[in-house]
Amino acid sequence: MHAGDAPPATAALDPLTAALRSSLPADSVITDPVRLRTYECDGLTYHRATPGVVVLPETAEQVARVVRLCNEFAVPFVARGSGTGLSGGALPREDGVLIVTSKMRRVLEIDLPNHRAVVEPGVTNLAITEAVREQGYYYAPDPSSQQICSIGGNVAENSGGAHCLKYGFTVNHVEACEIVTPDGDLVTLDRMDPGYDLLGAFVGSEGTLGIATRITVRLSRAPESVTTVLAAFESIEQGGTAVSAIIAAGIVPAAIEMMDALSIEAAEAAVACSYPEGAGAVLIVELDGPAAEVARQFDRLKEICSGAFELRVAADPAERAAIWKGRKSAFAAVGRISPAYIVQDGVVPRTALPEVLAAIDRLSAEHRIRVANVFHAGDGNLHPLVLFDDGEPGAGERAEVVSGAILDLCVEHGGSITGEHGVGVDKVRYMPRMFSEADLDTMQLVRCAFDPRGLSNPGKVFPTPRLCGEVPGVRKGAHPLVESGKAEQF
Ligand SMILES: Cc1cc2nc3c(=O)[nH]c(=O)nc-3n(C[C@H](O)[C@H](O)[C@H](O)COP(=O)(O)OP(=O)(O)OC[C@H]3O[C@@H](n4cnc5c(N)ncnc54)[C@H](O)[C@@H]3O)c2cc1C
Repeated sequence: MHAGDAPPATAALDPLTAALRSSLPADSVITDPVRLRTYECDGLTYHRATPGVVVLPETAEQVARVVRLCNEFAVPFVARGSGTGLSGGALPREDGVLIVTSKMRRVLEIDLPNHRAVVEPGVTNLAITEAVREQGYYYAPDPSSQQICSIGGNVAENSGGAHCLKYGFTVNHVEACEIVTPDGDLVTLDRMDPGYDLLGAFVGSEGTLGIATRITVRLSRAPESVTTVLAAFESIEQGGTAVSAIIAAGIVPAAIEMMDALSIEAAEAAVACSYPEGAGAVLIVELDGPAAEVARQFDRLKEICSGAFELRVAADPAERAAIWKGRKSAFAAVGRISPAYIVQDGVVPRTALPEVLAAIDRLSAEHRIRVANVFHAGDGNLHPLVLFDDGEPGAGERAEVVSGAILDLCVEHGGSITGEHGVGVDKVRYMPRMFSEADLDTMQLVRCAFDPRGLSNPGKVFPTPRLCGEVPGVRKGAHPLVESGKAEQF
């Protein structure tokens, strides 16, 4: 469809649109076809759909009103923060409403004595740190997209970042969430609540269990000392061996990131990061904590990285930022060396890294598809960037085959099809490679408990909406785990 064409499915949405217009501020409901196209995809641009209607609520109460209207008209809805997701989680529905949180950007409360901040979902990740930096605090999870991604999106994806090796993912830094449930109620899920950990279930649910409207995050004290090191190795195997040795030595760095030659070439072309020439791999290792401990760990690190042909140590915050610049821009940078690419996000046990990387090399040669490797080496989270020319017939399909085969490798080695980018629409088809039907059915029971009508971001995460589709919220017949004798029903 081109700008100016009538978008599909809007006529069926007319009664809902009229109701939305009468309950939201005038400029909060978008139906203009050209403006709707702004929202047709997230960071996974391969999947596109023009939303039926876009709403930009300003308050939690407005979000609840929109969701209640969607229920009244039985129309699906999708939440969207900043649209930087890499798995198509915020892909809109042509027959549905896209609820965008970009007008909900207030930091509501900062409570330093209790190390907490309360924010609206559209606040960007970095804005939280900026609000408390001068007082010596920060918000620890740091996705590379932190300048633009929203905290609501982070909660929905359970986002990670370079420093999550030591400090944990989003789930470890969210204390409470006010949410609008899929049927339009405003409720609060709190870590302190007795009973089931519903907050834990909500974090990482990719918009399928409702919409976060107010988030209480944990603030961390800035460490006394930080040492950032760039180690250049001749080969990726040498870099991988150093990673294992660092962890085996009992050091838990704040971050250990690795980039291979192709991703270094891309970063160099994009941001001139001046990484050592001729490196087959660079490791970025960041140590933080009390000064004496950091100094001791640094001495040990130098011994472990003795095989590196160059070791750079950042002397000040500007040099630290220069070292991080290449890594933080790596995804966008590959656009400089390839017309199109797929960002993958698999996980393998750290010890399997060398074997899996060698297998990725073989896949790359076999399918004539270049693969640049950037990864959170400390926790085995690979981000292979599968490069292809979308103008070359068949290249996109070959890239998809390589991507799928990489995820198979991760599962075969006891890992996962996603470390932090989520399943979205992109990896729906890979879920059965990792989970049995019974596993998926069990997850659907949780989903149905929150969203029996299947209106909240349908079509994401799960290959089929079987259980909700059969009888809302209640499974017909025995659960497969019960049938197989693995569980009992009381
Ligand atoms: C260059 C680049 C680098 C990246 N680096 C990282 C990285 O290091 N680590 C990492 O984990 N990710 C990374 N990402 C992926 C992405 O930034 C994260 O997944 C981020 O959390 C998405 O936030 P967003 O606001 O853009 O969410 P969106 O893309 O708008 O939405 C993502 C999902 O969250 C849901 N959602 C959004 N807001 C809400 C809400 N308020 N309530 C409920 N559900 C909601 C959506 O429905 C969707 O399913 C990167 C992306 C890019 C483009």
